[in-house]
Amino acid sequence: MDAEIAGLATLLRGARRAVVFTGAGISTESGIPDFRSPGGIWTKMMPVQFQDYVADPQARRVSWQRRFEMEETWNQVRPNDGHKAVAQLVARGIVSHVITQNIDNLHQASGVPEDRVIELHGNTRHAKCLTCGARVEIADIRAHFEEHGDAPDCVLCGGIVKTATISFGQAMPEGEMARAEQASLAADLCLVAGSSLSVYPAAAFPLLAKRAGARLAILNREETEQDPYADLVIHGEIGPVLTAAVKAL
Ligand code: NAD
Repeated sequence: MDAEIAGLATLLRGARRAVVFTGAGISTESGIPDFRSPGGIWTKMMPVQFQDYVADPQARRVSWQRRFEMEETWNQVRPNDGHKAVAQLVARGIVSHVITQNIDNLHQASGVPEDRVIELHGNTRHAKCLTCGARVEIADIRAHFEEHGDAPDCVLCGGIVKTATISFGQAMPEGEMARAEQASLAADLCLVAGSSLSVYPAAAFPLLAKRAGARLAILNREETEQDPYADLVIHGEIGPVLTAAVKAL
């Protein structure tokens, strides 16, 4: 493992416009289960599809109940050593952008400036109107839900309000996709941390960066589908490995 960490430090040392591509695996050390590992979120309950959310008030109620049940977890979770190491790489001018599939806001909480984080699947810490895009706070929705048994419609346009996440069946956010493409094409290194790289279109960005000339490093507990294309693969735990690599810079 020491040689692999040294190899990662060497790649980072040579980089000026690296992108870090993160998935649920970077947040498991903060206590948020990932998608596919045993005990992962979706092994316990089926996700509500976007089409059902829009068409069916009962699906919306189920979705909000689940979101409120998670509120305590979302309020308690804190960035872990992996998030902090990534924040240091941004602060040191090695990493230009963090492209994340996560919805937990932990990169921002660890000190990465908002404009350096590209959230491909949105953010669960607030909600948005699906029609006009107005921001709505979860606490206000919860208060309405507790009184009336459902979520309020948008006060500005009457549209349906939903957490600001991208659900299964929902279109990817255009602006974030364009920013992720730009950052990947400009990157000299793409470091993947904690993604099975099996959820597309998000998982296309590391390969896009690689094809455009970046080195590709993958740090994940288990094999990923893109290991064969990587310049460096480390099968290990993100917090300890990234902390050691940053220390070795
Ligand atoms: P995934 O669950 O498909 O893959 C996560 C990978 O991380 C797995 O291969 C696992 O082996 C690895 N991993 C877990 N803990 C690790 C650790 N400590 N060190 C190293 N590797 C570790 O996740 P994904 O590819 O991000 O896709 C899941 C989807 O679900 C995403 O689209 C994301 O939006 C969503 N999701 C988000 C969160 C979150 O915001 N924290 C949590 C669960 C799911």
